[in-house]
Amino acid sequence: MISKKIEEALNHQINNELASYYSYLGMSAFLESTPYKGFAGWMRMQAEEEQGHAMKIFDYLNDRSGKVVLKAVLQPQTDFSSPLEIFENSLAQEIEVTGQINELFQLAQDEKDFATLEFLGWFLMEQVEEEKSAQDMVDLLKLAGDSVEALLRIDSEAGQRSTAEPEA
Ligand code: MG
Repeated sequence: MISKKIEEALNHQINNELASYYSYLGMSAFLESTPYKGFAGWMRMQAEEEQGHAMKIFDYLNDRSGKVVLKAVLQPQTDFSSPLEIFENSLAQEIEVTGQINELFQLAQDEKDFATLEFLGWFLMEQVEEEKSAQDMVDLLKLAGDSVEALLRIDSEAGQRSTAEPEA
């Protein structure tokens, strides 16, 4: 059986991951209305990854005989000024999620819940990947500046992204 504290914290993280899903979906929706279809696809794939994270916790809670409680998800932003602004938002969001996972890890340590610690290890490494891929895009977009040619090339490469989750 899982402790009430951990159960509550994991339910909160399900909501955080779904908020992240919705936020990326909002970015994708905006990008679909621009010529940047590659970035739109990248964000849509990212959204799907976040939904996957939520479901991973959903399944884990059930495996531990915890009770899943779904809460309301905030309305996401759907207006942006540029691909750079969007990827900067994405990076800031990932840094925030890393903080959430770190806090969960700390809580599991305090509660001596070793299975949850092991479970969260995957998320810690996933966040390393998430921050890196967002940072890489921000760096590229800064380099491209106002060059439409460079932006379209980066967009095209982003469109070739296939889900790259680290091994479970
Ligand atoms: Mg996530």
